[in-house]
Amino acid sequence: TMDYGPAPESSAEALKWLADRGGIAGHYINGKWGPLRDDFASYNPATGEKLAGVTKGTAAEIETAVAAARKAQPAWAKSGHKRARVLYAIARLMQKHARLLAVMETLDNGKPIRESRDIDVPLAIRHFYHHAGFAQLMKSELPNQEALGVCGQIIPWNFPLLMLAWKIAPALAMGNTVVLKPAEYTPLTAMVFADICTQAGVPPGVVNIVTGDGETGAALVAAEVDKIAFTGSTEVGRKIREATAGSGKALSLELGGKSPYIVFEDADIDSAVEGLVDAIWFNQGQVCCAGSRLLVQEGIAERFYTKLKARMDGLRIGDPLDKCIDVGAIVDPGQLDQITKMVSANTEGETYQVKAPEGCFYPPTLITGLSPASTLMQEEIFGPVLAATTFRTPSEAVEIANNTRYGLAASVWSENINLALDIAPKLAAGIVWVNGTNMMDAAAGFGGVRESGFGREGGWEGLAGYTKPSGTAKALKQIAAFTTEDGHPADPLDRTA
Ligand code: NAD
Repeated sequence: TMDYGPAPESSAEALKWLADRGGIAGHYINGKWGPLRDDFASYNPATGEKLAGVTKGTAAEIETAVAAARKAQPAWAKSGHKRARVLYAIARLMQKHARLLAVMETLDNGKPIRESRDIDVPLAIRHFYHHAGFAQLMKSELPNQEALGVCGQIIPWNFPLLMLAWKIAPALAMGNTVVLKPAEYTPLTAMVFADICTQAGVPPGVVNIVTGDGETGAALVAAEVDKIAFTGSTEVGRKIREATAGSGKALSLELGGKSPYIVFEDADIDSAVEGLVDAIWFNQGQVCCAGSRLLVQEGIAERFYTKLKARMDGLRIGDPLDKCIDVGAIVDPGQLDQITKMVSANTEGETYQVKAPEGCFYPPTLITGLSPASTLMQEEIFGPVLAATTFRTPSEAVEIANNTRYGLAASVWSENINLALDIAPKLAAGIVWVNGTNMMDAAAGFGGVRESGFGREGGWEGLAGYTKPSGTAKALKQIAAFTTEDGHPADPLDRTA
């Protein structure tokens, strides 16, 4: 048998890394650390032990960081070749320190080490490699675009390093400089990343990280930045939208979701059951695009639920550092409380729960027989809780699936590709997976519709979101627009004029 035990030596390495830096997570501004204060703490949710003190960024510190980013930006925007070199260096150093990053992420967030090691960290690295290529290609592929300037970036705690990569890599590739605020629960991998920036030769001021909470985030939104890129809750997204309205700041919002997971009678049932493990129990269900609403066609519902419960019984819940664990700890007791409250307030349907250890853990849960309008079918739980209902016809499936204020992602399971391809475009979702779930790629745009936000990250759309028409392109457009003698704007492509 294989050694699946915990890896205490690797957590010791991560704790030593923190101790060597005074045990405080804090600002990395203009290529230097500080100020560092023990304003609040970051905990290991699986054990409750304090991992590090965290500095709460003030408005003045945000201003200092933005000024450093402003000063560094023109030089950084000059050479795509140089940006590519630095971004490749970041990717390679992340690879070199992949184990430290994975262990730190698991300690700070509570996610299974198998996930941080095999998913979060490799995807984050890939994001930097991908965008290193585009830094070099910017001039030839986007000749009429230029950097926006300084970007303020605010990220959540569910994928701390991956969300950092989604924000920083494309912004830097397009010649912007950044001030990033990690989430209050999970600032630690951003610290390791800052260290990597120094080693990779990122010029001072190009990447600035300011730790803190919502107030620090609000100060960043109010600062003299050219764009705010936000990933987090719909509620905070709304506040940021209000705060930036009329300010001329560009804005992208990646918000919440309640994504449908639709299983048709002719689906490969075993695959669809296994897919759910990824859809709703991956990262304890704390995933914006989690398949949190299960819609099963009536004829197979009972058989499907039976198989699903058997699979749930096999999930291993516990110490996130243990390599055989499927479901780790919930990020924070406050979050656990919210999940518990939402589920215990429900009086509908039937609840099936497996056992979870004492502490900051929530058991994988299936609630069947819910009406589509019930709170658990409508509201984001952001935990390992699957809300299920049944449907009769494909059109009813679409109707239930779209009966939500969100629209981030959807999964369709059927062996009939015509049916799947007929359904997919009818779903109100930024991304639809057929016979799969949670598949991401740096080269593909990701984002939502409705209250799941707007703007895309990844792919061409993500890159374009970090640029604006260049001065030359704008001037040419203006010249073209005002050269007709009759005073009407000319269409440069109109040959009849
Ligand atoms: P949150 O909105 O509470 O916090 C997100 C970030 O915003 C944190 O860094 C926080 O400090 C900061 N913040 C809080 N108040 C702020 C304010 N007034 N102004 C500026 N910044 C502020 O969300 P969370 O609980 O950390 O994350 C969970 C949510 O994020 C879920 O709703 C989830 O669906 C969503 N999410 C979406 C995506 C996506 O790509 N669409 C990805 C991951 C998470």
